[in-house]
Amino acid sequence: MPTLKKNLKKVLDKIADASARSGRPSDDVKLVAVSKTHTPDTISKAVRAGILIFGENKVQEAEEKIAEIGHDKVEWHLIGHLQKNKARKAVQLFDVIHSLDSPELAHRLERICEEESRSKLSVFVQVDLAGEKTKSGVPQHQLNMLVEVLKRCQRLSFDGLMTIPPMADDPEETRQYFRRLRELRDRLAEEGAFANGFGHLSMGMSHDFEVAIEEGATIVRVGTAIFGERS
Ligand SMILES: *Cc1c(COP(=O)(O)O)cnc(C)c1O
Repeated sequence: MPTLKKNLKKVLDKIADASARSGRPSDDVKLVAVSKTHTPDTISKAVRAGILIFGENKVQEAEEKIAEIGHDKVEWHLIGHLQKNKARKAVQLFDVIHSLDSPELAHRLERICEEESRSKLSVFVQVDLAGEKTKSGVPQHQLNMLVEVLKRCQRLSFDGLMTIPPMADDPEETRQYFRRLRELRDRLAEEGAFANGFGHLSMGMSHDFEVAIEEGATIVRVGTAIFGERS
């Protein structure tokens, strides 16, 4: 079996096991294959192996890949920080944006959706739970304010939360962050804040996606474990 297929099978098996441990069917958890730095050729192979969603962290880098691969068979998710001047391109290219992190960006995306006649754009709010100034994400104490702004954005569909915990050698150290994001999601879902009702939890990468699933992740973003180390 080619390496990519073998890697993918391992990841899917681990997703299924972790889902079972959290008492959920494995189709409760969506896999976003993070294809940043990888070529359209590699992405095509991944499409043939059955990947349905790709994650890219840079708008410009994603543009040519999306032009080549298209949207017919797969979804494209923006998982990296979105700069204001790339917002229009992002609206034109992506199915879901995981990294909404300010009221200004929400207003801008809403306005651009209007201008581009896009009636719905699914967005997740990225929350910075550890107060790491170098990372993007809205600080937890500003989350409610951003949620209030999103309620008034008719074209933005607020569908979930995303987080990137601080780097840790032991994935168990990140468990507390995943748990906190789930608690925030549960509270917002109770308040009826999400357009989709339940609110996705986009959390977990190659080294910690199993812990994230145990804590309730509904979307994991996995690159290295599928495609190998990035050069
Ligand atoms: C690169 C990246 C990932 C995937 O990381 P891996 O460790 O390669 O699985 C997930 N989420 C975001 C936001 C990323 O930038």
